[in-house]
Amino acid sequence: MNSTRDIPFGRPWLDDVDRNAVIEVLQGHILTHGPKCAEFETKFQNMMQGGYAVTTSSCMASLHLAAIWYNFGPGDEIIVPAQTHVATVHAVELVGAKPIFVDCVAETGNIDPELIEAAISDKTKGIFLVHFAGIPAQMDSIMGIAKRYDLIVVEDCALAVGSLFDGKHVGLFGNVGCFSFYPVKHITTGEGGMLVSNDKETANNIANFRAFSVDRTHGERKIPGVYDVTGVGMNYRMSEMQAALGCTQVDKIPDILYQRSQNFKYLKNGLSEIEHVNILDSTDSRAQNSHYCLIMVLNKSSRDARGRVIEKMKQRGIGTSVYYPQPVPRMEYYKSKYGYSSKHFPNAELISDCSIALPVGPHLGINEMEYICTNTLSILKEEI
Ligand SMILES: *Cc1c(COP(=O)(O)O)cnc(C)c1O
Repeated sequence: MNSTRDIPFGRPWLDDVDRNAVIEVLQGHILTHGPKCAEFETKFQNMMQGGYAVTTSSCMASLHLAAIWYNFGPGDEIIVPAQTHVATVHAVELVGAKPIFVDCVAETGNIDPELIEAAISDKTKGIFLVHFAGIPAQMDSIMGIAKRYDLIVVEDCALAVGSLFDGKHVGLFGNVGCFSFYPVKHITTGEGGMLVSNDKETANNIANFRAFSVDRTHGERKIPGVYDVTGVGMNYRMSEMQAALGCTQVDKIPDILYQRSQNFKYLKNGLSEIEHVNILDSTDSRAQNSHYCLIMVLNKSSRDARGRVIEKMKQRGIGTSVYYPQPVPRMEYYKSKYGYSSKHFPNAELISDCSIALPVGPHLGINEMEYICTNTLSILKEEI
């Protein structure tokens, strides 16, 4: 097998339909506050089969909007996953609330519902959770806890376009769901995000707040330029160029999900013969994975081998990644602010220190998947 391949971990899927949609916006004069954002929101709602969608400038912006909107602040405690993108936790930290880290389940990487309850105090106001690498979190148990303790739930769905729990799209279980359209996610607008709520009023209010809290849109102004301001809002809007790209990208979601699931299945199957390697996937038959990537977790004693495996894969042209390089509470800022003890987060540590994320994106066909599988097997046999 030759080693001249170059297989990137992720690559946006763009064609002339996408490019022409952006050019069309640039041939007109409306670059923001226009029809493309509204169209993208409608299309996204249809894809999710529910909820009210609000375009934003990023997933981080959506998470931040949620933390502000629910008035979390000093004195409040918010339950967060130890194993997630730092954005999930930054949103809580930015408004002055205290993140309370909870470890994940080893099989899925998702927050462990059994540990959530033990972390709740009378200061707890909410749960910010992530659907880890597109594997849906245990939403029935989590929403049960939230109901019992009257907690706000915010879902970080950045890698979870197409993730369902019991037939319902994730992001529609909690109060708010937050999506990302960063280039390597399922679909992209360059930078960009979406905030989704089941509650129309919440969605409208947050939409208003992400645009300076002015009380009427351009279309609603009887006299141009005349409006009032009802709060201290932000500018977290999406542009029309981005939204136009979002519209054409949404149309590709069924194909993207199909190709991802095929690639994932092939690779999971191929790697199953290796002992002492755990592949993260949904364990609940109601949980439909969106297959962002395939995360294989080597056992603890292979900690040193991981770097060598990644290096060999790189030499053979196979792009990999790590989700995530540290449990968030072990990252410098959070560690020095809140202290850290590895005994509280053994599963998050195992995934951070011993896992490798392999690509399964729609930029890869059966030939690439065969190449990745064969080489991963031979490298693992050499190294562990
Ligand atoms: C990428 C990612 C984010 C950040 O998304 P942006 O749109 O870049 O702000 C947040 N959470 C998770 C889980 C992610 O993977």
